[in-house]
Amino acid sequence: MNFPLKTTLFTIIYGLNFLPILFAEKAFYGDPPDAHHPWAVHDRHRPQPEVVTPAVNVGDAPSDAIVLFDGSNSSFERNWRHSTQVDHRAKDWIVKDGYMLVVPGAGSIETLELFGDCQLHVEWAHTRDISGSGQGRGNSGIFLPGGVEVQVLDNYNNPTYADGTVGALYGVMPPAVNALRPPGQWQSYDIIFRRPIVRHGEVLDPGSLTVFLNGVVVQDSTPLEGGGGWRKRKPYNREFPKVGPISFQDHKNPVRFRNVWCRPLRLRSYEGGLDGRISTDLALNKRREIAKRLRLDAAGQPDIKRMLLLFESVYYEADSVSLEQGEDLAQSFLYECQTASRDKIKEKEETVKEVYRALKYMQRFGHFSKENGTIIALESLMDELEWK
Ligand code: MG
Repeated sequence: MNFPLKTTLFTIIYGLNFLPILFAEKAFYGDPPDAHHPWAVHDRHRPQPEVVTPAVNVGDAPSDAIVLFDGSNSSFERNWRHSTQVDHRAKDWIVKDGYMLVVPGAGSIETLELFGDCQLHVEWAHTRDISGSGQGRGNSGIFLPGGVEVQVLDNYNNPTYADGTVGALYGVMPPAVNALRPPGQWQSYDIIFRRPIVRHGEVLDPGSLTVFLNGVVVQDSTPLEGGGGWRKRKPYNREFPKVGPISFQDHKNPVRFRNVWCRPLRLRSYEGGLDGRISTDLALNKRREIAKRLRLDAAGQPDIKRMLLLFESVYYEADSVSLEQGEDLAQSFLYECQTASRDKIKEKEETVKEVYRALKYMQRFGHFSKENGTIIALESLMDELEWK
C-alpha cells in the first residue's frame, strides 16, 4: 500500500466518523421522524423541558408542586376533607405541631383536588409507644386515585403477611425490602402512580406504581393488576377514574402525617402525550403540524434560509412542491457560485458547505437520488476549491 492510498483511506474513514457530528450540529439532525416519532433524533423543534426549581432540601416541595399539607391548620382546611359525612362522624382528625393525626373513628380524609397520574411525597410517623401487632400496629394507608393502597404500617420488628407490609401495593405486591425506621421517627414515601388505561375492557396499559420508602425503592413500576384489596383481587381490566382524590386511611391507629405534596405527571400517548414511541396517527398529526409551521416560516426568508426550512419541512411531511422549490433554490445558489469570481466564492465557503450538508442529508434519507445533478455539481465545485 503506498502512502497516498493510506492517506485517502484515512480521510474516508475519519470523514465517515465525523459526518454525523457535523449533521447533528448543522442543518439537520440525526435519524428523521418516523411513523411513531414526530421528531428526529436531537430535533431542535422538540419542546424544551419546563424549568422547575428544586427545593433546598430534597423531600421538600419543588416549585411546581401542589402543596397538600404544609403543617398549618389552614392548609389542612384548604386541601382536605373527611370522607365520612359530618353527621356520621364522632371526631375530626387533629392538626398540631406541624402534623395531622389520625383520630380513630374520624374516618379517612381525602384531598379536595383530584389527581390522575402523579408524583406524591408524604412523610409519616408511628407512635414511639408500641401497641398492637401485625396489621394492628401503626396501620394507615395512602389511597391513590382509583383506590390503590400503598400500605402504611409499623413493621419494625413486626412481621405480617408480605403483601400487607409497609411499602406493599396492598394485596398485590409485597415491597422489595423493608426499609422502615424505628417507630417514633419520621418516614417518607415518594410515590409515582400511573393509573391503568382500559378501553372497552381491553387493558392498554395496566398502570404502575413506583415507591421509595425512606429513599429506598420498594416498588419498581409494579403493574397494578386492577389494584388489590383486603382478601380480594380486583379485575385486571377494571376501569379507573381519570382523576380522583388522594386519601389517607383511618385504620384506628394514631399515625401522624406531614409534608405532603403532589405533582401531576406528563401525559402518556394514550392520553395525547407525544413523548416516547407513539401511535402513527398522533405522530403523523404532529409531523404535519411542524411541517406546516416550517413552510409558513420559510415564506419571506432569504433564499438559503428558505431552502433549508423547505427541506426541513419535507422530512416531517413529504411534499414534492416544497422539495422542488428547495432544490430550485439550491440550483440557483449553485449557479451563482459557479459563475462567481474566486474572491467572491471564498466569502461563501461556509454557506456552500451548509447547503451541501443539507442536500446530502436529504439524499441520505431518500429524498434525492444518488445521481442528483445538483449534488454532483456542488461536489465537483467543492473538489475544485479543495473544500471537501
Ligand atoms: Mg392500611
